[in-house]
Amino acid sequence: MKAQTAPLTPDAPIVHALARGVCPICTLMRAFQNAMIESPRLYPAKVLCNFHAWSLVGASPAIEAVPILRSMLHEFSAMTSDEPVELHPCDWCTTVREHESEKLGEYARELKRDNFREWVSQYGTLCLFHGRRLMEGVPQSDAELVRRIVSTNQHDLENQLTAFEARVRRGERGGGGVLGHITEYLVSQRGLTR
Ligand SMILES: [Zn+2]
Ligand SMILES: [Zn+2]
Repeated sequence: MKAQTAPLTPDAPIVHALARGVCPICTLMRAFQNAMIESPRLYPAKVLCNFHAWSLVGASPAIEAVPILRSMLHEFSAMTSDEPVELHPCDWCTTVREHESEKLGEYARELKRDNFREWVSQYGTLCLFHGRRLMEGVPQSDAELVRRIVSTNQHDLENQLTAFEARVRRGERGGGGVLGHITEYLVSQRGLTR
């Protein structure tokens, strides 16, 4: 449960993603999504959303982007012209969502371990979305702990925002990381689509 030094592998356990100030579920989803973009041959897809298609084209090895783009072209040419394109969900979004559900389940199981429970109750961070998802899926006493973590996070961020505003009004620069942390709390880490 130390500060992260090496990049996380796509199948890293939740304890490797525990760090102060960041939601570990978001961190693991980002690591998983980065792995997809780096090695798309391992994650075949016939349909990709705007975000994932552009990530593939912009950041994946070009030779690995080719078969996916070819599958997408075939998939869309096989559709009848009156079939709404929106009916075809992005394969990578679906895979990332499955990973998210697995990691939420793992977090819920880890809450039964004293070490994990103590660490997260003292230092834990969860974004609003993952906090809510966890509360829905765990027993009452665990849901209460998660609720406390999320409300402590919210309270800290409100204080940081007030301090930030005062600094900005005084004409000071810097400290903009606060806005990023608040945004992560509100909508999850950057690049995780819903
Ligand atoms: Zn999160
Ligand atoms: Zn997608």
